Parts: sequence; structure tokens; C-alpha cells
Amino acid sequence: MRNQDLIERDLRVLWHPCTQMKDHETLPLIPIRRGEGVWLEDYDGNRYIDAVSSWWVNLFGHANPRINAALKEQVEQLEHVILAGFTHRPVVELSERLVAVTPPGLDHVFYADNGSSAIEVALKMSFHYWRNRGETRRTRFINLANSYHGETLGALALGDVSLYKETYAALLLKPITVPSPDAYQREVGETPAEYARRAFVAMEETLAMHAGEVCAVVVEPLIQCAGGMRMYDPLYLSLLREACDRHHVHLIADEIAVGFGRTGTLFACEQAAITPDFMCLSKGLTAGYLPLAATLTTHEVYSAFYDDYERLSAFLHSHSYTGNPLGCAVALATLAIFEQDDVINQNRRLAQIMGQSVAHLADHPHIAEIRQTGMVVALEMVKNRTTREAYPWQERRGLRVYRHALSRQALLRPLGNVIYFMPPYVITEEQIHHLAKVAEEGIAIATRD
Ligand SMILES: *Cc1c(COP(=O)(O)O)cnc(C)c1O
Repeated sequence: MRNQDLIERDLRVLWHPCTQMKDHETLPLIPIRRGEGVWLEDYDGNRYIDAVSSWWVNLFGHANPRINAALKEQVEQLEHVILAGFTHRPVVELSERLVAVTPPGLDHVFYADNGSSAIEVALKMSFHYWRNRGETRRTRFINLANSYHGETLGALALGDVSLYKETYAALLLKPITVPSPDAYQREVGETPAEYARRAFVAMEETLAMHAGEVCAVVVEPLIQCAGGMRMYDPLYLSLLREACDRHHVHLIADEIAVGFGRTGTLFACEQAAITPDFMCLSKGLTAGYLPLAATLTTHEVYSAFYDDYERLSAFLHSHSYTGNPLGCAVALATLAIFEQDDVINQNRRLAQIMGQSVAHLADHPHIAEIRQTGMVVALEMVKNRTTREAYPWQERRGLRVYRHALSRQALLRPLGNVIYFMPPYVITEEQIHHLAKVAEEGIAIATRD
């Protein structure tokens, strides 16, 4: 079988995610035959370094032997069972492990099967908590400008990336949107922490004005990933935790993309030493193997639902595959690798190499900013470095970088004009330098005219 065979069959019957299908009249689909470590290989024998971890999910490479073994072992025992009224060892063990490794105070785990659903769970739980407490005026949520929380209607409403959201505006609940602490917006000479403090003024005012009608503030800690890998100082999270407590509003931390080591700590919230009221996890939870998501919350929230059945205060939410044993077994294997291989400490060296590999581009005429938080590095490609004038989105210059990278054994999939690396943690120094080289060439090609 060759690439072309599968491409033709695919285009007859598939509809791909986040894609204008007409693009594939000129942009060839790439059928992948197998993966190993950071490598993906297509049916024509071309290879690609998976620099975006297959949409931010893969942690320890494709076809990881240890995870494969855990999956095989579990599938011989139990593939799935209803989680209402029943339980199983993998889900109990995983819940114990998640409670142990997440910030102190997150004591109960509710499962779903994708990130958006984990957000829906947190939104419904927060709203329902206040309702169970007799606070029925609380129906609103506060979010940050440029945020992203998924595609289902509740999660989409809480995001602020207009490309995904605008079309569906009439269907969506209306959050109260506060300016982002995104450090790219800081003034010359201002530190990210100073900017975070300045941006927080709007949050404080909004909380003061609306606290009585708000269920929760929802944020992506430290990196707004889908919003263009925009990063901000942990100080914002400390200020937010304190203010949410003072105004009696929940804090929902969406760690779906940033969790599991991406920011340099196991969870981004650790860098501000905070415990949110809800933490949403997915993506890296199964190291890129299986769809699984978890929403963790506090004993305080859990207790507000715990009562006699007739009082109808229970959280009557479910998904068919809630707590799937295969997903849980893989998640346990993932957490075991973090521990056995001291991954967070080992990643420090890799993060340093990632930063160094692009440092020489700091003065590039078409790069306005190089930013890094842990294992995520992003280059902001602009028309004019001095004025930071962006390229018109219609020119799709990021796509030129994508095309060039494919011809050079790399899967780089820019977000608009932001080129970034978010690789599996098994990447080598040499491979990182290759990616940096390819990105540099791609930017030269994309900014040529
Ligand atoms: C990917 C993502 C989601 C949605 O997760 P899905 O599994 O794609 O539904 C939510 N929040 C953040 C921050 C994400 O990056």
C-alpha cells in the first residue's frame, strides 16, 4: 500500500477535525503507517519528528514499550465495565495516584473521556454546588481573553478564540471576559510579573462587581496554548487564588494541555503553589494513547452533593466510557514512568536545549518574541519585528512553515503565525537542533515576500 491509495479512499469517506476539507485538493493528507519514539512513518517510507506530540497528547513517544505492555496486560483482564454501581482496580489505583500527585486538597476524581467533557463536568459541578448550597443567583463564569477550553458548547463558550467560537455565538452561554495576563502584551521594560499584576486589576474589579452571580473563574494556568502559546507569570495565579477565596468564587484550572510536565512541573498550578477548586486533566493523562479525562475537586465540593437520594442533590452526569479500564491502566503506566525515570528533573536539560536551539533567532527581523515555559517553546512570526505588525491571517504563512517542515522530516503545525515545539519527552538533543534548523528555514521561506 502507498500513501496515494489511502488518501483517495480517505477523502471519499472521511471528514477531518479542524480542517477545511477543500485544502486537501492541494495539501496532501499524510497516512501514517507506524510510529516509534518521536518518529512517525508514512506508507511511502517518509519519516517525521512529531514536534507537536500529535496535538499535545504524546509524552513518551509512539509505541512506548512500557505503556504497550500495560495496555496488553489490562486488555487480557477487563476492557470495560459500567462505572455506576461497579468499580475496578485500575480506576481505584489511578484515582489514588491522581489525588496523591495533584496539589493538596484535590481529593475526589470524576472521569470523562475527553478534555472538553472534563470542562463541562467542572462547569456543571461548580454551578450545581452553589445551587445545592441555596445560592441560585450564581449562573455566570469568568474567563480570560484568548482562552481555549474545548469544542463542546459549554467549553466553547468559555473559550475566547473567535475563529472557533464566533460562528456559534448564538448558541453559547455568555461568560464575563477579562483581559489576559499574556506577557506578550507587556510594555517594553515591564517584566511578566509586573504585567500580570497590572492585568489582575481588571480581574479584581470584575470579581468585586459580579461575585454574587459568578460560579467560577476558569483559566489555563501559565500557557494559553490554542490561543497561540501565549504565556504568563505564575504571580497571576497566586493573586487569582487569593481573590477567588476572598470573593467566594470557585477557581477552575484547565490543565488539559499544560498538565503532566509541559510547563516544567508536573502541574502548572505548582509554580504558584495553589490548589484550584477544580482541576481538569486529559491529553497527557494517557501519554497520547487513549481518550480519558479527569476532573478533580475538593472534599468541600464533593460534600455538597452527598445527601439522601430524595433530596436530589446528586451529580447525575455520566459518559458511557467513564473510567475506562484500558485508559486507566495506561494512565497508571504513564505516572509510573514519571516516577521511575525522574522525568520532571530530566526534562530540565531538554528544556534548556530547546531554549538554546532557537536563542540565535532572537534578533530575527520576522520574529517578535521567542518565549518558553518548560517544555514549550514558541516563536511569534510577524511582518515587522519593531512594530509587531502581524501578517494578515489570510496569507496563511504558518502553513508554509508546515509544508517546509514536512519536506524536512518534521511535523511542525503552527498556530496561525506562531511556530512552536511541544515534543514528546523522549526527544534527543540532536533532534531538537534539527527542529530549530527546520523552523528557521521555514520562517525564511514563509517571510520571503
Ligand atoms: C485540547 C484542550 C481542551 C479540549 O480537550 P479535547 O480533548 O480536545 O476535547 C481543553 N482545554 C485545553 C486547554 C486544551 O488544550
